[in-house]
Amino acid sequence: MIILAVNAGSSSLKFTGFEMPSEDVLISGVFERIGIGNSFYTIKLNGEKKKKEVDLPNHKVAFEILIKELIDNKIVESLDEIKGVGHRIVQGGAYFDKTEIATAEVIEKIDELSSLAPLHNPAAIVGIKAAKEVMPKALQTVVFDTAFHQTMKETEYMYAVPYSWYKDYQVRKYGAHGTSHKYVSQRMNEILGRYDTKLITCHIGNGASISAVKNGKCVDTSMGLTPNAGLIMGSRCGDMDATVVTYVMEKTGMSPKEMDTILNKQSGLLGISGVSSDSRDIEEGINSGNERCKLAQDMYVKRIVEYISKYYVLLEGCDAIVFTAGVGENSIMTRKQILDKLGVLGIKVDEEANNVRGIERKITTDDSKIPAYIIPTNEELMIAKDTYSLVLQD
Ligand code: ADP
Repeated sequence: MIILAVNAGSSSLKFTGFEMPSEDVLISGVFERIGIGNSFYTIKLNGEKKKKEVDLPNHKVAFEILIKELIDNKIVESLDEIKGVGHRIVQGGAYFDKTEIATAEVIEKIDELSSLAPLHNPAAIVGIKAAKEVMPKALQTVVFDTAFHQTMKETEYMYAVPYSWYKDYQVRKYGAHGTSHKYVSQRMNEILGRYDTKLITCHIGNGASISAVKNGKCVDTSMGLTPNAGLIMGSRCGDMDATVVTYVMEKTGMSPKEMDTILNKQSGLLGISGVSSDSRDIEEGINSGNERCKLAQDMYVKRIVEYISKYYVLLEGCDAIVFTAGVGENSIMTRKQILDKLGVLGIKVDEEANNVRGIERKITTDDSKIPAYIIPTNEELMIAKDTYSLVLQD
């Protein structure tokens, strides 16, 4: 059977079609500029990539084109072969701790949670409704970025602010990238051949987060109420003294919205270096002697090491450290710098093994006290697997 994993943004729709249970990718791509003119889509199938400019007034038309491509390219004979569509949802609040079928009640709840993810949840609902219209017989499911983190305890998810903020405004830590942390921790357990493990999973991309995972369950994670907590990211500041915000707002007369933009889009590696949010540019800057790029990278690495260290203590040990996402999978320099700084824990990087990009492998020496691995993430497959199991139960 065919399962689609989709990620709807306000003007985009990313998709991957899997044959299940073989997990073979049949088709993948993205529709862009939906509803805003000059729209197009790129699609990869049968080893070929193509781009087409088309009118995409809404997400429903995008799904219709996707179905037409599937049929024209003989990937399916009819719509009925698509048994499930899994939708990525950014914010499931404290309400959703697992993948669910997208019933009217579930959609209403996702809508209610929009105040916590104003850009993302409403767009996902548009995607679900469009998919339901175009593929009424397929089971629609919702897979939450936050669900994996719902096993955190109060001591981990509460903030030390007036308790009424939690009661009245749901202010607490929800985390993000849960589907990725779940995928790589499951895969790590498969590699280790056991499930009673203590893992530290580092999803370091443009957005970045670290999770402490014990026996397959999340104990703590670095992102918070929003994705702007924890690590220094491409353009997000991550953890800092909260009073910096009110201090600078008073000094400059900046509005909350302007401040939000700066903290999310003009901070992090970009803010410190003044050069770029992209790790590759930072690395290039360092190689050409740019001091601020070096400072940005040193701070970036230090923060990651701080989180790994505190999760090592929280978990009372660690069976493996996992690196994933754009930087985690590809930056040889960043991984080495992190692991070198963890030498006090008996961790020893294997420089030759570490000299790769995007490949699943162990990157520490055999006598390293804790092994570290690169495990390329696959959120789409995780979405498809969850959806497939709900289709089987349906
Ligand atoms: P997101 O999904 O959060 O947008 P990704 O996980 O795709 O981000 O990661 C994107 C980031 O990965 C880029 O901004 C870049 O910093 C980093 N990256 C990609 N390739 C490399 C590389 N070869 N070396 C260093 N960093 C890389």
